Amino acid sequence: MNCPYCGYYDSKVIDSRDVNDGIRRRRQCLRCESRFTTYERLQPASLFVMKKDGRREEFDRDKLLTGIRKACEKRPLASGAVEKLVDDIEMELYQAGSNEIASAAIGDKVMARLKTLDHIAYIRFASVYREFTDITTLKQEVDSLASHPVVHSADQLPLIPPEELAAPIKTPRRVRR
Ligand SMILES: [Zn+2]
Repeated sequence: MNCPYCGYYDSKVIDSRDVNDGIRRRRQCLRCESRFTTYERLQPASLFVMKKDGRREEFDRDKLLTGIRKACEKRPLASGAVEKLVDDIEMELYQAGSNEIASAAIGDKVMARLKTLDHIAYIRFASVYREFTDITTLKQEVDSLASHPVVHSADQLPLIPPEELAAPIKTPRRVRR
């Protein structure tokens, strides 16, 4: 693992601990001394995804993560919420015990979770995944959300922190030159 800051090839481990099914290592670059974190996890038996067009490819966690991250961009989600969502889905897929799954089934799992996490992210994901071709289908999907309130959990942060809502509005002080 090269240093993400300077690209140097060597680092030393300064801390290491077990996290769900893996090892988290805190490293320090031997050249620029920046610190970064790596995760090591066991690669479970291969899982294949059946695409709509009949192609078969190996399940790619990063690809799934990228797609969901894109849908959640700039949404007020707690850090790690997207990773947790992908972790949950990945675990579910491997626990199902089958070595093959339809891409549509994965998409449905993502949609079901986004529906309770963040409606905007849900619509963004759905518009790519369901390939909305007109505004009517999009509207139907949005209408269906009205009956699915978002569960406000630790995974979602309020848009404005409560302490800011409560604080009196301050007029910025003029800077004397
Ligand atoms: Zn470095």
